[in-house]
Amino acid sequence: MEKSAIINICRGIEGGECRFALFVEESFADRIEQTVIDSGWPEFLKKKFGDNISRHKAFSVNGAACPNGCSRPHISDIGLIRACVPLINHEECITCGECVRSCPDDAMAIVDGKVVITREKCLVCGLCTRTCPVEVISCSRNGWRVLVGGRLGRHPRLGAELPGVYSSNEVFFLISKSIKLWVENYEDGKRFGQIMDKIGHEKLLQD
Ligand code: SF4
Ligand code: SF4
Ligand code: SF4
Repeated sequence: MEKSAIINICRGIEGGECRFALFVEESFADRIEQTVIDSGWPEFLKKKFGDNISRHKAFSVNGAACPNGCSRPHISDIGLIRACVPLINHEECITCGECVRSCPDDAMAIVDGKVVITREKCLVCGLCTRTCPVEVISCSRNGWRVLVGGRLGRHPRLGAELPGVYSSNEVFFLISKSIKLWVENYEDGKRFGQIMDKIGHEKLLQD
């Protein structure tokens, strides 16, 4: 397992010891590891390469508990960024503007006496849910942004983001499906992202 997969999570996931970290269930990293094992990936690589499995052949999953991305989710086979989709209770909002001032992505504004979020700018970091003094911003959905096929090397590329926010169980399913697709379409010397470019990222979201 050590050689066939590299799972790299930020310290915000491991114990939540970071002020930016959104909540992540304790068993999350272990469950990723178990998903990779259950998918048959370690056996597949062993059968193909014996014990000669270099780091370059490993399946990588990097997870971050906020969009700061300290664990570099954008350059792994599967990158995960914890997400909280903010929802404002306008009835209770006192339009103090604190959320607007503290949003790191300039995604909030007060327009005609009402707080609006520009969804294209919002990185679903959840910070506004913690800065609102009267606690009227909640997460309408907790989960993960999922990036696919990032890599370094001779042809580096950032992972392509799947649309939406996924629950942890959906993430485990996507990891399992990614490995299945890679195994079925495996080509020596090609990274997962190159295979996905060829077969289409939408395959991951199809039944
Ligand atoms: S990615 Fe975010 S939560 Fe994780 S260690 Fe970095 S700043 Fe903290
Ligand atoms: S911080 Fe809370 S109360 Fe203040 S404007 Fe934002 S949503 Fe409204
Ligand atoms: S979730 Fe983060 S980026 Fe989105 S509006 Fe709130 S503070 Fe801004």
